Amino acid sequence: MTAQIIDGNALARRIRAEVAGRTAALKARGVEPHLAIVLVGVDPASQVYVKHKANDSEQTGLKATLERYPADMTEAELLARIRALNDDPRVHGILVQLPLPKHMGSQKVIETISPAKDVDGFHVASAGALMVGQPGFWPCTPHGCLKMLDTIGYDLKGKHAVVIGRSNIVGKPMAMMLLGRDATVTICHSRTANLKAHTLQADVVVAAVGKRNVLTADMVKPGAVVIDVGMNRNEEGKLCGDVDFAGVKEVAGWITPVPGGVGPMTRAMLLVNTIEAAERAAR
Ligand code: NAP
Repeated sequence: MTAQIIDGNALARRIRAEVAGRTAALKARGVEPHLAIVLVGVDPASQVYVKHKANDSEQTGLKATLERYPADMTEAELLARIRALNDDPRVHGILVQLPLPKHMGSQKVIETISPAKDVDGFHVASAGALMVGQPGFWPCTPHGCLKMLDTIGYDLKGKHAVVIGRSNIVGKPMAMMLLGRDATVTICHSRTANLKAHTLQADVVVAAVGKRNVLTADMVKPGAVVIDVGMNRNEEGKLCGDVDFAGVKEVAGWITPVPGGVGPMTRAMLLVNTIEAAERAAR
């Protein structure tokens, strides 16, 4: 079997076009959807990420303001700036790029963002809303993965999904989203004994670890859907995921590539959360 590829670039393009339409509709009502992106320090990867986020926003018609602060900004100063953004009715989404400098408490900073503007979905109120099935903002990466499953028309009801990884921003929310779709969910992590015994039973595997070849062909049930969240570099320095793509695609029914899979979907879902925040504020 050769798996069908779930094309994250193509799906992200469709989502961006939908967001552009919703943005135009809101602007016609006199509301300019606005994302404030806050970067503290000069981490090179973060600088690239924030630029992408700002460009993505502007290409869909959303206003993006990129605020850069020096690495020696105090935590109190950052919290004060976030509170000011919370109080500014012209700002609909607030994103503080992580990681923050070591002298700042990331969770404290995130908890200072108003849940109504928490477009990254990292606030404890957002996590709680996902847990109890209330409206909130879902973290972009797992939400993008769920959208990919929707795109292929995959019905998760009664299916067995295995999530490898239990971080607060990917693994855990992914598991909650799958559970919300009536899948039976197993969460695996670094202490899981015999990972292969779990993945072999899975109809859907989501790999969110950050290590190459965590999932190989012998660990996958024929026909399973494999979603690869991982971002790693191979020996040649090329971007690759957690999944042995060449081997697994011969066994799986569907598979996401890296690059061109979950990455562009994560970026697209930030735009979805931002337009959603603006629409909610305008209701
Ligand atoms: P993280 O916080 O480091 O979490 C990694 C998880 O993997 C942990 O739960 C860890 O278990 C588990 N783990 C480590 N080794 C394992 C093993 N051998 N077998 C099974 N589980 C193992 O990472 P993250 O932030 O969730 O990100 C995961 C990956 O996704 C990274 O490569 C990251 O770059 C990528 N990512 C991609 C996107 C995107 O847009 N494409 C977005 C976010 C993240 P313990 O909990 O026991 O330590």
